[in-house]
Amino acid sequence: MTQPTILIWYRNDLRVADHEPLHGAVRANASDIIPVYCVDPRQFGQTAFGFPKTGAFRSQFLLESLADLRRSLQQLGSDLIIRRGYPEKIIPELAQQLGISAVYYHAEVTSEEVLVETALERALKPIGVELQPFWGHTLYHPADLPFDIDEIPELFTSFRKQVEKSATVNPPFPKPQQLPALPAVEVGDLPQLAEFELEAPLFDSRAVLKFTGGETAGRDRLAHYFWKQNCLKNYKETRNGLIGADYSSKFSPWLALGCLSPRTIYEQVQQYEEQRVKNDSTYWLIFELLWRDYFRFICAKHGDRIFRLSGLQGVSIPWKEDWQRFSLWREGKTGFPLVDANMRELAATGFMSNRGRQNVASFLTKNLGINWQMGAEWFESLLIDYDVCSNWGNWNYTAGVGNDARGFRFFNITKQAKDYDPDGAYVKHWLPELASLPVGKVHEPWKLLPVEQDRFNIRLGVDYPNPVVDLFKSAEANEKVYNAALKR
Ligand SMILES: Cc1cc2nc3c(=O)[nH]c(=O)nc-3n(C[C@H](O)[C@H](O)[C@H](O)COP(=O)(O)OP(=O)(O)OC[C@H]3O[C@@H](n4cnc5c(N)ncnc54)[C@H](O)[C@@H]3O)c2cc1C
Repeated sequence: MTQPTILIWYRNDLRVADHEPLHGAVRANASDIIPVYCVDPRQFGQTAFGFPKTGAFRSQFLLESLADLRRSLQQLGSDLIIRRGYPEKIIPELAQQLGISAVYYHAEVTSEEVLVETALERALKPIGVELQPFWGHTLYHPADLPFDIDEIPELFTSFRKQVEKSATVNPPFPKPQQLPALPAVEVGDLPQLAEFELEAPLFDSRAVLKFTGGETAGRDRLAHYFWKQNCLKNYKETRNGLIGADYSSKFSPWLALGCLSPRTIYEQVQQYEEQRVKNDSTYWLIFELLWRDYFRFICAKHGDRIFRLSGLQGVSIPWKEDWQRFSLWREGKTGFPLVDANMRELAATGFMSNRGRQNVASFLTKNLGINWQMGAEWFESLLIDYDVCSNWGNWNYTAGVGNDARGFRFFNITKQAKDYDPDGAYVKHWLPELASLPVGKVHEPWKLLPVEQDRFNIRLGVDYPNPVVDLFKSAEANEKVYNAALKR
């Protein structure tokens, strides 16, 4: 039997360990294994509301991840072929040039990505090249779930309970020991940010972390968080923090681009539980990874519905497209310090804590009544850890249009600020204009009397904005709109 020649189509799976397509190609004893990444110009276009689809933070992280993947493949005796253009055009051309018999890749679930897969399948069929998808983005493999994808429970808690009861996580696939050298082929240069008309983002010293793309840096972060700093043992207590590198794992950017696989993290949690401690915190990290799984499976089940204005629930809310207020939100000028600090952190660093994301998303939708898709696209543009399923799934959920939405629930921003930033350190970190305020006023500067404004040397409406809305009246008004829409 002739040995197969297999092209590995890299996408959001930029690693060599726990990579089933790569492992599968080695196991199939392929004579040639050709790793390829296509820099798809569609990824660098614009979102529907006109934001850069992949902003500078994530682009930079992607380029670093590609460089790291290339180095890893070189160490194994191979290399990464890089091409600019549409995969459905480039891969068939390469397949013909190199006599490829099959293309192995990790399947995606959302429409833009699936469209590319379908177009590629169409282009490969006439030239007789097999296209073989693998599933590799989640902790649990669909084949091991206690239900089919189209029967995934709509509620997270039911999903989690059933999965925890009856499914197991498979061990990671081993990293290949060695790969065949590439045949004579131009490998192609690594892309540069300037090609996407982006400038290298400046590192802001207030950032939680200097995120560096790639499997190597992702594994270093894992080693740091679990083993060197021993942070996992307190994760459940610290995970809602707002300042610093270690309040939460910060694994998300590496997970989103597939530099780290969730199974690798799971395996290390198990080792940690054996060697150090097993407690609520070690469980909770897996619990959070289950949210990630849930959103991906829900996207696989519902297709395009997650992107629709009416969301998974199909509820027609008359959202506003108020660009003036939206700009205040995205620039961190709403007059609500917790919202503003988080939005400025996002703009300056490409990252925001989970607590921050929940609050700013709630404020945009439940207080400003603004179209949640605008917020989701703004996040898509800026987030270094943008993951299509987690982002759009969480926005569905927070906007109250998700399958798991429980009526009109909004975050009381002031209470949240007092609970999670009790000494005001976080808002002062990002809003230096509030630095002189005492703790009792820092989350509610609108309560400052003129005499206090003089004393603390801050002029409301000049140095820091007055609140754009009344927190409770705006929520009440939007709740009426929401409830009326539910009755229609
Ligand atoms: C409106 C909104 C948008 C979001 N957009 C994204 C996104 O584009 N990409 C993304 O990875 N996460 C997103 N999240 C989820 C969450 O905020 C981030 O995963 C988390 O803040 C990343 O920090 P961490 O790695 O330190 O998290 P940790 O607290 O250390 O959690 C560990 C991992 O669990 C997963 N996780 C945790 N919470 C969630 C969650 N609510 N949903 C899905 N997965 C979760 C992530 O992979 C995370 O890295 C969003 C949340 C909200 C409310």
